[in-house]
Amino acid sequence: MSISKNKVVSLTYELREDNISGDLIEVVKADQPFVFLFGAGGLLPEFESNLAGKMIGSSFDFQIMAANAYGEFDESAMEYVPKDIFMIDGKLAEDLLETDKVINLRDQDGHLVRARVAEVGEAEVLLDFNHPLAGVNLHFSGQILDIRDATAEELDHGHVHGPGGHHH
Ligand SMILES: [Zn+2]
Repeated sequence: MSISKNKVVSLTYELREDNISGDLIEVVKADQPFVFLFGAGGLLPEFESNLAGKMIGSSFDFQIMAANAYGEFDESAMEYVPKDIFMIDGKLAEDLLETDKVINLRDQDGHLVRARVAEVGEAEVLLDFNHPLAGVNLHFSGQILDIRDATAEELDHGHVHGPGGHHH
């Protein structure tokens, strides 16, 4: 059996920046593999296209350029905001105002948005709303542990059930 649409795939991977010797971003090991429904969408298209046709036991090693992953870094997604918005009960939330701290904010519509504190000034704070992996070329390497047919229910729901998937 090889990887194609509507198969449930289990795999391990190491995600690094740029190449096999780049900075480690994430490790997924065999005891808790990444399990997904191939072709269901939601994953980076190039991640799936690089895995298509692989068999159980196959290893993989490929790069996805930033533009095809989480996008290029966007300078316009950086914004200065007044320090006042970090006043909580009349006190400045100093613990939030550290460079590289990731904070949750609400936008005008009440949606939760994530931002990285890029710079803390006297009166203003520079927030970075880019995805944490924006501008990063991704390098994946790993091994295919298992491939099986999705059940009718999984196909209906569009996701995997059981270990590594949804429990409901
Ligand atoms: Zn389900």
